[in-house]
Amino acid sequence: MATTKRFEGKVAIVTASTQGIGFSIAERLGLEGASVVISSRKQKNVDEAVEKLKGRGIDVIGIVCHVSNAQQRKNLIEKTIEKYGKIDVVVSNAAANPSVDTILETQESVLDKLWEVNVKASILLLKDASPHLQSGSSVVLISSIAAYEPSASTAMYGVTKTALLGLTKALASEMAPDTRVNTVAPGFVPTHFADYLTKDASIRKTIEEKTLLNRLGTTEDMAAATAFLASDDASYITGETLVVAGGMPSRL
Ligand code: NAP
Repeated sequence: MATTKRFEGKVAIVTASTQGIGFSIAERLGLEGASVVISSRKQKNVDEAVEKLKGRGIDVIGIVCHVSNAQQRKNLIEKTIEKYGKIDVVVSNAAANPSVDTILETQESVLDKLWEVNVKASILLLKDASPHLQSGSSVVLISSIAAYEPSASTAMYGVTKTALLGLTKALASEMAPDTRVNTVAPGFVPTHFADYLTKDASIRKTIEEKTLLNRLGTTEDMAAATAFLASDDASYITGETLVVAGGMPSRL
């Protein structure tokens, strides 16, 4: 539960934010005072999420945006500027994991989709957003624990998430000093995205045992870490990745 108001007067865009981790991030930023722009592919999901957030007293608008659609990305930024006139926070949260094939067996079209949604769309969104980013603004990318340890069934997805760690370093340098760029690498969180793992009791138990804290993560855990990096509490942190995975093996 948010007790501080670190985002009063700030405008935050969160992609893929009508459920799961993105929704909780939007909710957390909104409860801490941000005006929030949420989005996802389906109008119905956008409308429902907007109503939920409004019900919590959050100043929010919702816009349909499939992150790999150039026109919809442009519209997301334009509508944000029309309504709020500036951007302080961008959280790039969308990802696809369309295949469980090994890397060498992954179809070319699937390789393209993974690159497009998981990496390229973040770059292009930031390109559109950058003229409107304020001094002191903050970008947070959402990677994954799989960036460090790609498992066999999510190998290429993991590699796209590894790419985000490099992108964080490169963009932090490119966008400094006005904009900080950091990344959150979630562990396993029981959302729709991870259903195929977390709904199976034995897989779930194996994952829980890989953590030091003996539990899966929550969307609120990810929102708290994202809000920290996006806030002025992290004003001397840029180019970093925060692993939020209950102590699962990542790196020193
Ligand atoms: P989720 O609960 O399944 O939610 C996905 C959200 O993204 C929905 O709002 C969906 O709405 C939207 N969406 C999906 N594809 C989109 C696209 N191409 N463009 C725009 N919006 C899109 O997923 P999640 O678990 O919260 O995952 C969010 C992020 O966390 C992803 O980057 C994922 O890689 C990362 N992550 C998750 C876990 C985990 O265990 N859950 C672990 C590590 C990292 P529509 O259907 O309306 O588009």
